[in-house]
Amino acid sequence: MNIGIAGAGLIGRLLAWQLLRRGHKITLFDRDAAAGELSAARVAAAMLAPYSEAVHSERAIFDWGRESLALWPALLHDLKIDSDIDVFFQHQGSVVVAHANDRSSLDHFNKCLLHAVPDFSDSIQPLDKNSLQELEPELAERFSAATFLREEGTLDNRELLLALEQAIRCAGALWYEGSEVTKVDAGAIYFDNEIFHCDLAIDTRGFGAKKQLADLRGVRGEVLWVHAPEVHFTRPIRLMHPRYQLYIAPKRDSVYVIGATEIESESLAPISVRSSLELQSALYSTHTGFAEANVLHAYANCRPAFMDNLPRVEISDGLMRVNGLFRHGYLLSPVVMAQALAAIEGRVEHSIVKYIDAVNYSSTKSVCA
Ligand SMILES: Cc1cc2nc3c(=O)[nH]c(=O)nc-3n(C[C@H](O)[C@H](O)[C@H](O)COP(=O)(O)OP(=O)(O)OC[C@H]3O[C@@H](n4cnc5c(N)ncnc54)[C@H](O)[C@@H]3O)c2cc1C
Repeated sequence: MNIGIAGAGLIGRLLAWQLLRRGHKITLFDRDAAAGELSAARVAAAMLAPYSEAVHSERAIFDWGRESLALWPALLHDLKIDSDIDVFFQHQGSVVVAHANDRSSLDHFNKCLLHAVPDFSDSIQPLDKNSLQELEPELAERFSAATFLREEGTLDNRELLLALEQAIRCAGALWYEGSEVTKVDAGAIYFDNEIFHCDLAIDTRGFGAKKQLADLRGVRGEVLWVHAPEVHFTRPIRLMHPRYQLYIAPKRDSVYVIGATEIESESLAPISVRSSLELQSALYSTHTGFAEANVLHAYANCRPAFMDNLPRVEISDGLMRVNGLFRHGYLLSPVVMAQALAAIEGRVEHSIVKYIDAVNYSSTKSVCA
């Protein structure tokens, strides 16, 4: 098929790559340059944290998240073959901590987690100071109790986006950078006062699709990327914080991402002073080595979310919309992508996928109903 994809962020790139592998002809449109600085995908910390998310989300996020975690290694293996880039992926668990004053929030988190996923209690391990010392020695200097979530992980989103770009370009796709898409309809993508006609138009514009998806909302998030050679955390750390779910995700070469604020606002303004101070003081409170860290980036963007905070794949003749990945884009995209591909091939296997009536599709009607 001749397929047009509007939005080359996380899910748009993943779909483009896999559809190229299946022999389809792909044309991508994005208002941004290929580096993806305007996408939520670029801003994210790329935590793969089904357990931590289970406390605040529907059980489906946990189940799809675990399914996706199992799919990432094979996907990244194929991506290395196609791009020659070995994307950083780490799956050795994460550690949840709280300062002494916030100890009750850690106890509460543990209780809620066991209540949410009682059948997976074996993967939730309380740690005393000695076992924390063995697992993450530098964390034990500041914390005396923690919880180890042995199945969680993280990946490097910068490397993933770059590897996907390389693989897509090598496979011969056309990529229109700096192209504003105003509308995606069955078999048509409207961009820069032109219309691109295709057999299937896929809308993966994330929050940028809001004008066509009335029930989509943006949830603002802010992160800092720092270089901290004096810190040697090996796993993602989640810090219980009275206002946010804060985590520190280690990447290669002493780079750490600290995030993320979660604010019910659709503002795309740069990070606020308040958020920046809160993130930096939370970071410093885990390890004095962060005092000398250099701030590499301060990003803000909006997570695309529907009211139920669940992802959706909607398909009809000539049109597919994939959206609502919210704070779970990296956690869920392998499963969401697999379901979108199955739907394109005429198989619907999952409740993520809905058939929609493209003719009656209107921007004021929820297609999920
Ligand atoms: C601060 C923050 C932290 C996060 N942390 C995590 C995390 O730790 N783990 C996790 O799993 N998820 C995380 N996420 C969520 C994850 O980033 C998103 O779920 C995911 O990026 C959504 O993918 P998407 O492809 O739908 O949208 P995006 O990645 O935003 O991609 C959309 C693309 O469409 C383009 N576009 C938009 N409008 C137009 C238009 N009109 N014309 C042309 N192009 C357009 C954009 O430029 C962009 O390239 C985080 C998000 C944020 C903001």
